[in-house]
Amino acid sequence: MRVIFLGTSASEGWPAVFCQCQYCVKAREFGGKNLRSRASVLFDDDLKVDFPPDTYMHVLKYGLDLGALRFLLVTHTHRDHFYADDLETRKSPFAYVKSGGLLKVYGNRAVYEKTVKAVSSEAVVPEIIDPFKSLKLDDYEVEALPANHSPAEVCLLYVISIGGISVFYGHDSGWYPDETWKALKRRKLSLAIMDCTCIIKDCVNYHMGIETMVKAKNRMINESIANGNTIFIATHFSHNGQLLHHELEEKLKLYGITPAYDGMCIKL
Ligand SMILES: [Zn+2]
Ligand SMILES: [Zn+2]
Ligand SMILES: [Zn+2]
Repeated sequence: MRVIFLGTSASEGWPAVFCQCQYCVKAREFGGKNLRSRASVLFDDDLKVDFPPDTYMHVLKYGLDLGALRFLLVTHTHRDHFYADDLETRKSPFAYVKSGGLLKVYGNRAVYEKTVKAVSSEAVVPEIIDPFKSLKLDDYEVEALPANHSPAEVCLLYVISIGGISVFYGHDSGWYPDETWKALKRRKLSLAIMDCTCIIKDCVNYHMGIETMVKAKNRMINESIANGNTIFIATHFSHNGQLLHHELEEKLKLYGITPAYDGMCIKL
């Protein structure tokens, strides 16, 4: 399985759209891995998590063929995760998809409703995914788990498995709910993608910073959800968390966690 981090920022991007704070100024100055767009991950060519407003930029930057995309898993409807309006361009005359196949969009009720409202095309099919129920999407097995995030909707995290490889998509979320921990206990993760929005300003609810993320990692190890071979990746970074990429690398190395950057590719 090939996993590409298309974007690795929190809601406002980093540097943020309108921001003049010192951390955005530094990010613009240093460039490279400090330039972070809104978060999304692509698994092989056919499964993607979230559809941020930067998706078209991702297509250009990475030369993506999103016509090959078959399954879109959406965590929640916050604007950095789900820009539903652009899904309308999946149909003719905006797009000609050779396979003629459908794009299935999975998410909570709010995702379903936003998709129905934004998209008139039969080429995009929204479906509600219920937490704790495994779903077979071709060779993938997908399970949605509740996050500790906005109370306005049932925000979801995902476990995505294929051929003995399991990936946990763990943001946006604060410390995971008990029921999510319970469900994770059945898993042996190859890759854990963790919420590190607040970085040095730790948060426990809604998002995590380094402190809570490390506690979550330790619990995964203690409960054998993860082991020494599991790759831990931190992502969804906010400028309010202050550390630039090289500082994040240095700090997270102490805990065996790697900070994601836009374009980072992992082969499992
Ligand atoms: Zn977010
Ligand atoms: Zn800023
Ligand atoms: Zn959010």
